[in-house]
Amino acid sequence: MTARIIDGKAIAADLRARVAAEVQRLKREHRIEPGLAVVLVGANPASAVYVRSKGKQTAEAGMTSFEHKLPESASESELLALVQTLNTDPAVHGILVQLPLPKQIDSQKILDALDPAKDVDGFDPVNVGRLATGLPALTPCTPLGCVMLAKTVHRSFEGMEAVIVGRSNIVGKPLIQLLLAENATVTVAHSKTRDLPAVTRRADLLFAAAGRAEMVRGDWIKPGATVIDVGINRVAGADGKNRIVGDVAFGEASRVAGAITPVPGGVGPMTIACLLVNSVRAACAIHGLPAPAV
Ligand code: NAP
Repeated sequence: MTARIIDGKAIAADLRARVAAEVQRLKREHRIEPGLAVVLVGANPASAVYVRSKGKQTAEAGMTSFEHKLPESASESELLALVQTLNTDPAVHGILVQLPLPKQIDSQKILDALDPAKDVDGFDPVNVGRLATGLPALTPCTPLGCVMLAKTVHRSFEGMEAVIVGRSNIVGKPLIQLLLAENATVTVAHSKTRDLPAVTRRADLLFAAAGRAEMVRGDWIKPGATVIDVGINRVAGADGKNRIVGDVAFGEASRVAGAITPVPGGVGPMTIACLLVNSVRAACAIHGLPAPAV
């Protein structure tokens, strides 16, 4: 069997186009221009790249992009003051504080201070609790993107065995809730799971989010399964140059799976597209409008 490749780049481009159409509709029908503020503290090069790309894609979708940069030495109270300003700014519908933060700042305090209505990362305790109890919530972008990708293969997950490898707050745990809400039977594996290959082999839907390069081998996969690879791992190639691989051994896995996401070009592009989705959803909710069509 040769797996169908789930083209995250194309699916994300289509999603961004649908977001842009919703933004135009909000401007036309309601005179609302959704605004997303991204806050970067310090000079972490990877974070700076993410923030630039978020700003660019926000503007391309027709939204207002606000970028706030604080120095590496910024204090917790400085960042809290900025968050408060953004919480009350009516032009800002979404706020994203780029993680990780410098060590003098307690990330949880910052997440706690975000207005839940504007927390487009969905990491604050209110959105986490709302998601867990089945209430409308802003959902973390990467898991939301994973579900959207799997939905391009299966219209319904009802009754399917879903296995998630990884239980982080940003990927694994929110995925549990999203998959349960779709009526999948969910198993969550982690570093203490016994006989992980036997667990993953049960999966009709396998989500790999462990941050372990090519850990999931071909014979860990049930024939025909849908595999969503969240991992982003930098490894040295034979030519000495670094390359990016996922948590799944793609070559082997694609001979067993029914459908699979590549790395890069799978989950990655969906994460920013879902950030735009959340920003439009937040803008609608803040203005008391029905949820948008994305
Ligand atoms: P994380 O916070 O480090 O969590 C990793 C999880 O995997 C933990 O729950 C850990 O178990 C589990 N794990 C680690 N080694 C394992 C093993 N050998 N067997 C089974 N489980 C194992 O990572 P994360 O932030 O969720 O990210 C996971 C991966 O996704 C990383 O490669 C990251 O770069 C990538 N990522 C990609 C995107 C994207 O946009 N594409 C976004 C976010 C993250 P314990 O809990 O027991 O320690």
